[in-house]
Amino acid sequence: MKTMTDHKTYWERKEDIEEIMRFSESYKDFLNAARTERMAVSEIRRLAEAAGYRNFDEVDALKAGDRVYFVNREKSMILFDIGSDPEEGMSIIASHIDSPRLDLKANPLYEDEGVALLKTHYYGGVKKYQWTAIPLAIHGVMFRKDGTKVDIHIGDEPGDPIFTVTDLAPHLGKSQNKKTLAEGILGENLNILAGHRKGDEAVKEELLALIKEKYGVEEDDFVVSELEVVPAFSARDLGFDRSMIASYGQDDRVCAYSSLRALIDTAGRKRTCVAVFADKEEIGSVGNTSMSAKYFENAVGEVLAAMGNDSHLAIRRALANSYVLSADVTAALDPTYPEVMDKMNAARLGEGVCLMKYTGSRGKNGTSDANAEFLAKLRKKFADDDVIWQFGELGKVDEGGGGTVAYILAETGAEVVDLGTALFSMHAPYEVASKADIYSTYRAYTSFLTMD
Ligand code: MN
Ligand code: MN
Repeated sequence: MKTMTDHKTYWERKEDIEEIMRFSESYKDFLNAARTERMAVSEIRRLAEAAGYRNFDEVDALKAGDRVYFVNREKSMILFDIGSDPEEGMSIIASHIDSPRLDLKANPLYEDEGVALLKTHYYGGVKKYQWTAIPLAIHGVMFRKDGTKVDIHIGDEPGDPIFTVTDLAPHLGKSQNKKTLAEGILGENLNILAGHRKGDEAVKEELLALIKEKYGVEEDDFVVSELEVVPAFSARDLGFDRSMIASYGQDDRVCAYSSLRALIDTAGRKRTCVAVFADKEEIGSVGNTSMSAKYFENAVGEVLAAMGNDSHLAIRRALANSYVLSADVTAALDPTYPEVMDKMNAARLGEGVCLMKYTGSRGKNGTSDANAEFLAKLRKKFADDDVIWQFGELGKVDEGGGGTVAYILAETGAEVVDLGTALFSMHAPYEVASKADIYSTYRAYTSFLTMD
């Protein structure tokens, strides 16, 4: 199901290949900087400011041509590129910047048999066995008793120590091997190895002294911290032909970065264009930094007010008249596991950004099923702009499924559809994307933002 383009994939034209490779290099830099939602916010803010976006808090009035951003608690962000009156409808791309990981518990550190360990509670849909025996880094914040914040980053810089979750040797795995994949490694056993005893002194006390010396924090300060454990692999080219990128966190930073670049690379579009970078998608879009929070609507209201429009209805009209891309990843057909896909309705790696009319599971439950009229409009625009795209569904009927932020934005009355990159090994510590699909995602988002 292809659009009317003069070629089937972006790999077929020399000028496209050069663009693909250039875009991939900057995307890898983004992935390596944006390891957590907080780090993604800081990197997005840096790139946005370099492109002329100003913090809304420092702006008095807004007019067409202005670029502003909102930061919500350092974990989510919204960028506005002001064009025509938002009340007439905006073009919104909503991605998320949180990824599956292990979070340290409030009281994490303990010593057992001379070994120091940190207890974790996994975040999002992880296959637990994938998180053992790989290098891990710790990123996040802690607060001292005087209220000062300490940024913690250990494991990603060259020369840094890393952490790991241990697993049994196969020699000792007889009982473990009889368990199911889901039960072989238990969530409560995802403990982070953090040190071992060297003599008479308890290793826990030794580590607490080290942490106090380096960061000025004490054991009970872990209670007021947010420390996230993520894979310490950097983003790398994959394959003899370097056609793919392997990295942690491509769900959903591939859509976040592509939409950010689509927004900041060009100016002077007709409609007001918006990029939302939401948090907490991986745990169901709950909490005040998620897409469900009223933060987004409030920001739209603030923008309208700064343009001299404080009518109560304006926010509702602005949202209801909007076009929205729910920018999230999907699964590509993996030839090793074809049985979970309907081959007629599956995305292939390398064949372009994937349009999903609906997501959900068990009979389209929990999805926003996009209107055919909106799809027709999009298809026309993509054909006009020579965007290569494909259609895909997340697996066979009743095989599984998943949700995105699409249904939340659809509640405003806006036209919404899911459009994102297809991955191999989604939610694994190392996820795989095709460079052509990443570039196609950027091209599609760029095209969407110039829709009338
Ligand atoms: Mn996602
Ligand atoms: Mn996900």
